[in-house]
Amino acid sequence: MSKTVTVLGSTGSIGTQALEVIEMQGYEVKALTASVRVDEIEKQIRKFKPDYAALVDEKAAQELKIRVADTDTKVLSGLQGVCKCASLGADYVLNSIVGMAGLEPTLSAIDAGSEIALANKETLVAGGQLVMKRAKEKGINILPVDSEHSAIFQSMQGCRDKNEIKKLILTASGGPFFGKKRDELANVTVKEALNHPNWSMGAKITIDSATMMNKGLELIEAVWLFSMDPKDIEIVVHRQSVVHSLVEYCDNSVIAQLGVPDMRIPIQYALTYPNRIPSPVSELSLTDYGTLTFDKPDYETFGLINICRKAINDGGLYPACANAANEEANLAFRQGRINFLQIEELVAQAVADAPKVEDYKLDDVLEMYDRARGYVKEKIKG
Ligand code: NDP
Ligand code: MG
Repeated sequence: MSKTVTVLGSTGSIGTQALEVIEMQGYEVKALTASVRVDEIEKQIRKFKPDYAALVDEKAAQELKIRVADTDTKVLSGLQGVCKCASLGADYVLNSIVGMAGLEPTLSAIDAGSEIALANKETLVAGGQLVMKRAKEKGINILPVDSEHSAIFQSMQGCRDKNEIKKLILTASGGPFFGKKRDELANVTVKEALNHPNWSMGAKITIDSATMMNKGLELIEAVWLFSMDPKDIEIVVHRQSVVHSLVEYCDNSVIAQLGVPDMRIPIQYALTYPNRIPSPVSELSLTDYGTLTFDKPDYETFGLINICRKAINDGGLYPACANAANEEANLAFRQGRINFLQIEELVAQAVADAPKVEDYKLDDVLEMYDRARGYVKEKIKG
């Protein structure tokens, strides 16, 4: 019998690539969800014939219900509808929702016993403790889709004793502003920040790559996924995005995963693990690249990495706060309400203002999310 997959955030950059992989492998789609984009999800419903679909936006969901009334797909709405789609017990739930909005659906999918293919990194940054604990209790895997984490996961296959792992090395492309200093970044435009050298991605993560917040989020994601101490995770700038990340073992052997920058490789591996199957992605020609480069990150210019490192070291809800403040500041920059350097300033201020919380439940994470976004909104209003 073919595998069943639910795709959360199916209309986005990862969601559409996931559907390409799913189509190629002939998997069955159980449910699809998005936020507001009716035209895109309608096309996907007609093609993949899921049992359920959900849109967060109530009006858009009403419109979709009318449009697909001739199909067998049931249309749901709101966060509740997305959580229902996540909880249908598909073999896999691939979560490619953007932002902390993905947290509750991830928990619903874990409770239903589905394997989780996780692109939605904000879920682990904000609620890592909750997600990993619940996954362990349920005995399900959180399979990384993020390319760096997939690379680390792949480089760990064959490792029989986790104590043999000394260090993880996360590679970073450096984004469009690599080599620039702070004073050159004050007036960069949204268009310039959206111009990523190697990857075509959704707007939020593309800005996170330009500020390098993305690498800070990925550092925290790696801490949770691989139970690593943050001090044992190094970040290296690698402009070509060919070496997707590396694992250093106790004998100083370093194992890496390489490939052309194409998210269909990690998406497919998450859905076929522990097996490998042929992929339409191009072969890697090392001689076409010729040179691969590695540089130290410029932490003075891209301070958000250190803010994230401190947040995960301080623990509790500091990572959730940094993530939420960044979601608000990233949006404000895209809307032209603040300049590029203010993103970092606002995240730093929100984290400095946040209370220390040792242990937390879902409600505490959601409360911190509202608090940090509210804090940034107020600061912007002045
Ligand atoms: P996109 O913006 O392209 O897509 C986001 C998807 O989530 C869309 O389907 C969107 O629906 C839906 N969505 C938006 N807001 C909400 C909400 N509040 N509740 C539920 N669904 C919502 O993002 P990406 O595909 O680029 O990224 C998705 C996730 O994957 C992010 O966490 C990102 O960090 C991570 N990731 C992405 C990579 C990439 O190459 N793009 C690489 C590695 C990780 P609609 O279309 O209707 O707005
Ligand atoms: Mg990544």
